[in-house]
Amino acid sequence: MSLEVDMNDLIVPEHLRNNLDLIRKRVEKSARKVNRDPSEIKLITVTKYADIETIGHLPRLGLFDLGENKVQELVKKAGVLPKSVTWHMIGHMQTNKIRKGLPFFDYMHSLDSLHLAEALESEAGRINKYLNVFIQLNVSGEESKYGIKPEELFSFYGKLKDYPRLKIIGLMTMALEKDNPEESRPVFRKLRECRDELRAKLPEETRNDFCHLSMGMTQDYDIAIEEGATFIRIGTALFKEVA
Ligand SMILES: *Cc1c(COP(=O)(O)O)cnc(C)c1O
Repeated sequence: MSLEVDMNDLIVPEHLRNNLDLIRKRVEKSARKVNRDPSEIKLITVTKYADIETIGHLPRLGLFDLGENKVQELVKKAGVLPKSVTWHMIGHMQTNKIRKGLPFFDYMHSLDSLHLAEALESEAGRINKYLNVFIQLNVSGEESKYGIKPEELFSFYGKLKDYPRLKIIGLMTMALEKDNPEESRPVFRKLRECRDELRAKLPEETRNDFCHLSMGMTQDYDIAIEEGATFIRIGTALFKEVA
């Protein structure tokens, strides 16, 4: 038995370990069900419901990809977590928050307008940074939601070639909250079809980059994995204290 016990490992709350265990098992099960390799699915831990102390445990659990939907929160949390953490901006972003936020995140899951792309490109150039970007699609067609319409995706993607600091790596969507997560399946399936359709039209160099699907949250990530998710964004399932 090792005498060198890291005291910090001992204080990681039990429920975080247990929840993570359950999530990993469910990821594995869903992937196997459709003959996918579970290691191609990246878990993004969404920290919006968690306090700083709790988030501080995440690297000790091997969780280094964290996401926030609000810039101010991301900046605040990034400031106190180790630099080994990769931050993902997953919510709608206003251009006036870019200067403050961009130094802190490497992935943007929610590109939803050309105006935003232009502003990100300009600031990325100024601070000499490259950004991994998902185009957010509004698949469910709800008025209130952000995102590009599927029928506009091809022309939108085409215009992004003017922004070389944005590396477009895939598509993101949010399904509506449903009592039965099965109802989200058509949304996820449609996102996959949109990716495949666009991908087939791309030249080889860009086709290899444009391969990811960011979809699936606590309520529906198993369905999203069955439909091809490569990035899942999970908050509640990890942080909840009761099973
Ligand atoms: C909050 C949030 C999530 C995670 O939601 P949970 O249901 O807590 O897992 C995922 N994606 C986005 C864009 C979010 O805002």
